[in-house]
Amino acid sequence: MGYDTVVLDPDERAPAGQIANGHIVAPLTDLEAARELASRSDVVTLEWENADLAAVRALAERVPVRPGPHVLEIAQNRILEKEAAQRFGLETASFRAVRSRADLEEAVIALGLPAVLKTTYGGYDGKGQRVIHQSEGTLDAFAELGGGDAELILEGWVDFALEASVVSARSVRGDIVSFPIGENVHRRGILDFTIVPARIPDDVIRRCVEVGAAVMTGLDVVGVLAVELFVTRDHHILVNEIAPRPHNSGHYTWEACAVSQFEQQLRAICGLPLGDARLIRPAAMANLLGDDIGTGRGVPALVEALGDSSVALHLYGKAEARIGRKMGHLTALGDGATDAFERVARAREILISGPSDSG
Ligand code: AMP
Repeated sequence: MGYDTVVLDPDERAPAGQIANGHIVAPLTDLEAARELASRSDVVTLEWENADLAAVRALAERVPVRPGPHVLEIAQNRILEKEAAQRFGLETASFRAVRSRADLEEAVIALGLPAVLKTTYGGYDGKGQRVIHQSEGTLDAFAELGGGDAELILEGWVDFALEASVVSARSVRGDIVSFPIGENVHRRGILDFTIVPARIPDDVIRRCVEVGAAVMTGLDVVGVLAVELFVTRDHHILVNEIAPRPHNSGHYTWEACAVSQFEQQLRAICGLPLGDARLIRPAAMANLLGDDIGTGRGVPALVEALGDSSVALHLYGKAEARIGRKMGHLTALGDGATDAFERVARAREILISGPSDSG
């Protein structure tokens, strides 16, 4: 789109740094670095909701930050996030703040088991959470998550039929455009597949879009934001998490929509009109984790996986393939959501297990 970009990231080999015009290599808590970023930028956006709030506030004093620190503050804190959703008239899992063992005992009685104990701050990709099945496991989970020192939250168990997400953009003028609702499948708390359109009734899709819009307006967001949702068996839609940035469950938009979530982010923060987010073709995305592609199957597997010409490959250029780390993803287009899902699952299986003649 012709813009010059500069990124702030402590990692010299950071994926964004590899393609930006400039890269400030410094901790995200470095206020001096934040000031340098501000001085070199007309507008700043976020790619990670665990960015340091103080540094983002310092940035926002000098240059527009979109979405702003007021959105970040809420998205970083699971309790504020749920309270905000409820203020906007939306449903969430039942929850209690847990600052002590006594709080936890009361919360378990109030919410019942199973329940999920999570750190209030800093969790992502299933990190910082424990499912508690029986009361004997309660204190271990409390200790493992640093309870007492760190603030925790106990969430009632949601027996969801399906997880979904709504990725939407809001412009400087306040226009909101939502991408198609994706159906999300998680493995070990990490997004595994997104399947689009979500295979749920039209009226549920429509209500998911409305939930996204309520969050965008309620939080006065400028930029792209994802809301992760639980859809229950009786079609209640619960807000789980808010991510004020392009989201893994929106990566499919690159191939499947006229304008991707990344272009939409630029349009929103640069004061341009938003683009058409309609689905051109059904799509499915499969994540490639460090444990998947660390198997070293190499080029023959890649040749076979990409033998399905509807499959696109994205690798992020991360230097080290750690277990559970998102290294890239595949997107397949299909004749329907299920066809796309089968294609992307097959391609990933080839990458993981090796080409067919390798036994
Ligand atoms: P989160 O980090 O909150 O997105 O949680 C990661 C995953 O754990 C979610 O995508 C769900 O699959 C599962 N999960 C989280 N919270 C709950 C809950 N309260 N009830 C049931 N499953 C949950």
